[in-house]
Amino acid sequence: MQISASGLTAYVRDIFSHAGCSEAEAERIGRYLVAANLTGHDSHGVIRVPRYVSWLQEGEVEADKTPEVVTDGPAFALVDAHYGFGQTAGPFATELGIRKARENGVAIVALRHAGHLGRIGEWAEQAAAAGLVSVHFVNVAGSLLVAPFGSVDRRFSTAPFAAGFPVQGAEPVILDFATSAVAEGKVLVASQGGKALPEGVLIEPDGRLSSDPATLYGPLDGPERDNLKGAGAIRAFGEHKGSGLALLCELLAGVLTGSGTAGPGPRRFCNGMLSLYMTPEAFGSQDAMVQETRAYLDFFKGARPVPGGEVLLPGEPERRTRARRLADGVPLPDPVWETLLAAGRPFGLDGEAYRT
Ligand code: NAD
Repeated sequence: MQISASGLTAYVRDIFSHAGCSEAEAERIGRYLVAANLTGHDSHGVIRVPRYVSWLQEGEVEADKTPEVVTDGPAFALVDAHYGFGQTAGPFATELGIRKARENGVAIVALRHAGHLGRIGEWAEQAAAAGLVSVHFVNVAGSLLVAPFGSVDRRFSTAPFAAGFPVQGAEPVILDFATSAVAEGKVLVASQGGKALPEGVLIEPDGRLSSDPATLYGPLDGPERDNLKGAGAIRAFGEHKGSGLALLCELLAGVLTGSGTAGPGPRRFCNGMLSLYMTPEAFGSQDAMVQETRAYLDFFKGARPVPGGEVLLPGEPERRTRARRLADGVPLPDPVWETLLAAGRPFGLDGEAYRT
């Protein structure tokens, strides 16, 4: 099925305002989840709604928590989200980083105990829109999913990394990926009839490579998906190098922020994020920088493509998908739409009414 971004945003907003969030927070949840679908990252979009609702109902994530600035240095801040929604804590921490970097040239913001922060590129885009370079290391406490290079045992979360580089007069470069071979959400999407997984991104306990979501979720006989039920793991991307970056994300976002690492033992689910913000003007002449950026990106784009290929800047695929989906609507596999309809029903909401 296909639904307009505005209709889908309104439906998700209404689900969360009925589920106990203020209108403002519910609107943010709708906006950021649909924004992820618009970029093509369906794994971090509205497919998450049923899980977010049950987290809210179980007290795993709390409505309308005001993020607390625990330490407020001139160019550094530690923010505790107190397990409030990531869609509230994410923009708050990013705005704080932007303000401090503008005052000091650079800033570091450590965010801990945030509910799911969704698509991390969103925060790099927010900083780039304000003219700032940013780098974000993220981890997920209580979410052991990924086996390090050389192992079959889960030791990492899907620990994403993102960075943004603004380009004057053009779109920013936005690099944003999970350090796992695939984001967990992509396994979830595949398990619900969406895009199939690439070969060998999962690993069975005996070391066999797999692309079957059952490796992570166990038997797929009902709608329920519990990543604790699968015996296998997602593999880290990029062999030993990606595995090393995942380790760094756990240390920077999990340890340094105080948010907690992926494991061991049972831990409350939350995102930690260590972000660096840089004001380009603090590093030298703007004119020289703009010139070098343009010249370099033209040089980059001018690289000869492989047969049938195309050289894209990070961020370009997302912008193309966004333009297309804003015009045509957001496509959702029927089983995902069914779970969304079911999420609205207890609140007396009819999702179909938002499709007009
Ligand atoms: P991915 O593998 O789709 O990679 C996306 C990145 O690669 C983007 O920067 C994109 O612009 C770039 N890219 C894609 N195709 C390209 C091409 N042909 N040429 C050049 N660049 C290209 O991303 P992923 O690892 O599946 O992650 C998906 C999302 O999941 C991300 O937004 C990430 O932040 C999010 N995530 C969030 C959490 C969390 O806890 N909040 C955890 C894991 C992942």
